[in-house]
Amino acid sequence: AYVIAEPCIGTKDSACVDACPVDCIHPKKDEGGHSDAEQLFIDPVECIDCGACVPVCPVSAIYAGDDLPEKWAAFQEKNAAHFGR
Ligand code: SF4
Repeated sequence: AYVIAEPCIGTKDSACVDACPVDCIHPKKDEGGHSDAEQLFIDPVECIDCGACVPVCPVSAIYAGDDLPEKWAAFQEKNAAHFGR
């Protein structure tokens, strides 16, 4: 699955949310209760690895799990944990 890493913190552009064909990037704008999250996250179970979210991110925060830079390795777990995975 794809993973959203540190550059998203404080950015939360949400272009990826609109680009994702399976709606697995959260929180969404209408999820009021979760909008306090400091960054966006990808649900690793729902993600179909299409890569559509990568080019639309203005801060290049999204990586295929296998390509995630070592310094941001913890974000794989962080994304999964947001969904209780
Ligand atoms: Fe959604 Fe595709 Fe990005 Fe996975 S890789 S989060 S399915 S847009």
